Amino acid sequence: MCSKLIAKTPEFLYNTRMVSIQKDVSLKDFSNYKIGGPAKYFLEVSNLDELIEGFIQWEKISKALPIFVLGAGTNLLIGDRGFGGLVIHNKIKDIKILSEKDTKSQRIKESKSQRIRVGAGVLMEDLLNFCVQNCLSGLEWAGGLPGTVGGAVRGNAGAFGGEIKDGVYQVESVSTYEVSEAAASQVRKQVRKRKNSECKFRYRSSIFKDGEGKNEIIISVELKLQKGDKDLITKQIEEKIEYRKNRHPLEYPNIGSIFKNIFIEKVPQKLLEQLKDSIKDDPFPILPTAKLLAVAGLKGKKVGGAMVSQKHPNFIVNLDNATFRDVLDLIREVKSLIYKKYQIELEEEITVF
Ligand SMILES: Cc1cc2nc3c(=O)[nH]c(=O)nc-3n(C[C@H](O)[C@H](O)[C@H](O)COP(=O)(O)OP(=O)(O)OC[C@H]3O[C@@H](n4cnc5c(N)ncnc54)[C@H](O)[C@@H]3O)c2cc1C
Repeated sequence: MCSKLIAKTPEFLYNTRMVSIQKDVSLKDFSNYKIGGPAKYFLEVSNLDELIEGFIQWEKISKALPIFVLGAGTNLLIGDRGFGGLVIHNKIKDIKILSEKDTKSQRIKESKSQRIRVGAGVLMEDLLNFCVQNCLSGLEWAGGLPGTVGGAVRGNAGAFGGEIKDGVYQVESVSTYEVSEAAASQVRKQVRKRKNSECKFRYRSSIFKDGEGKNEIIISVELKLQKGDKDLITKQIEEKIEYRKNRHPLEYPNIGSIFKNIFIEKVPQKLLEQLKDSIKDDPFPILPTAKLLAVAGLKGKKVGGAMVSQKHPNFIVNLDNATFRDVLDLIREVKSLIYKKYQIELEEEITVF
């Protein structure tokens, strides 16, 4: 029963806690791969005030060094030498159900849709639990999708025909360049709001990954969901989780699919004929890279401690203390073999840094 919506936190984003920039923090445990050296500087933030405070401190340390935003580390291959700048670990975790006052919409009460604002550091798993508790439908496709909401928006994460862009109303972000040069009082004015169409969502991409928002940290996302049936929502999410448990090599450290799936226009005609039963809508026709790697006989291929998964060949698992180099060399070998055999250029989905 969901007669009354449960709002988790009335205040959103603005709270204060002392923040401090730490030095030489190992990133290994922040990566789902369990690979990676230290961050020279490391800052954890759980709301906008902490981010501002962190930027003020950072200005005193350096303006020249790069900044990297870390979510849940489920899509990251981190170098063994680590990162020479500031890593900002986004733990902005509030979720708020928006009212008529918040949205300036007169018809929200009668409407079948519901807007919620979600901190970019909220884990997708927690967001889905929130949706179940509040009978909100629209994100069932994401059952079992690891990572944060911010990471999902940046890469327009998708599965089972759904994509995060389908639920996004608008995204709030702050530029990591401008903020460090601005006085604290100016920072709030620089929070940028982009409506869905301005986010330039594409297949596993957005303005935050490949466009002018590249140097921005997503702080919150407003989603437009539908009021639905709790049991049905739960069932659909559980089905996806079960599917993933059976198909993904979750028993090893991994970072999901290494390569993007392949648009069918890029597949040579003869191969397309041969694999036509494997073509999927994702949400447009693609050849699953996992299928191509299996057909090419690459299952189980190893370099050092890294291996192309037997269970899902688009995953390269950390089988036995793999290093950054092992994974990178294996990626290169796979790409080169696929190009030689089928003249298809595989494109990485993961972030390497
Ligand atoms: C087992 C498994 C299954 C997966 N299945 C899928 C799937 O079905 N579909 C799919 O699309 N992906 C899948 N992934 C990949 C991964 O879950 C998504 O890419 C996820 O959205 C990454 O979120 P994250 O918080 O872990 O990001 P991270 O790995 O921490 O970071 C990834 C990139 O996003 C950036 N980023 C993170 N947070 C922010 C922010 N707040 N602002 C700006 N930039 C940010 C980082 O700088 C980095 O460049 C899977 C991964 C695993 C391990």
